[in-house]
Amino acid sequence: MTESGAQRAGVGFDTHRLEAGRRLVLGGVEIEESEAGLAGHSDADVLTHAIIDALLGAAGLGDIGQHFPDTDERWRDADSLDLLRAVVAQLADSGYRPANIDATIACEEPRLGPHRDQMRTRLAEAAGLEPGAVNVKFTTGERMGFVGRGEGIAALAIATLAPATRA
Ligand SMILES: [Zn+2]
Repeated sequence: MTESGAQRAGVGFDTHRLEAGRRLVLGGVEIEESEAGLAGHSDADVLTHAIIDALLGAAGLGDIGQHFPDTDERWRDADSLDLLRAVVAQLADSGYRPANIDATIACEEPRLGPHRDQMRTRLAEAAGLEPGAVNVKFTTGERMGFVGRGEGIAALAIATLAPATRA
């Protein structure tokens, strides 16, 4: 068990490559208007992966690759919200609960603003938070670098944890 009592913060960062013919899933929301999706072993939900790493980091529990290795067939095409739920359960075992999450997605296209509320709702449900405690922001690569050329999507997240209240 990690030391509890104080609020803790963690950061997460993830990138995935865009490929034609894949589903684009961000924050548990399928972005149907995108012609390309993210490549990866799971559903490649780059936003949820960054959030998972932020939560694990805040608790001092390593990173997503240690908990859900991409060599493990159990996680093939996994729904990343299920991985998030599993991490939140593990945090509870360590004496913590998520307090708030803030994240930024860097994506050139499509425009993601119309999906913001649904992402917040889905992520909040999986993390056991109110939607108001999950903020999701969007930026582009300004046509520079791998994001700007539409080669991939990046996500950055920060999470804070509070001591879990014992039932
Ligand atoms: Zn990932």
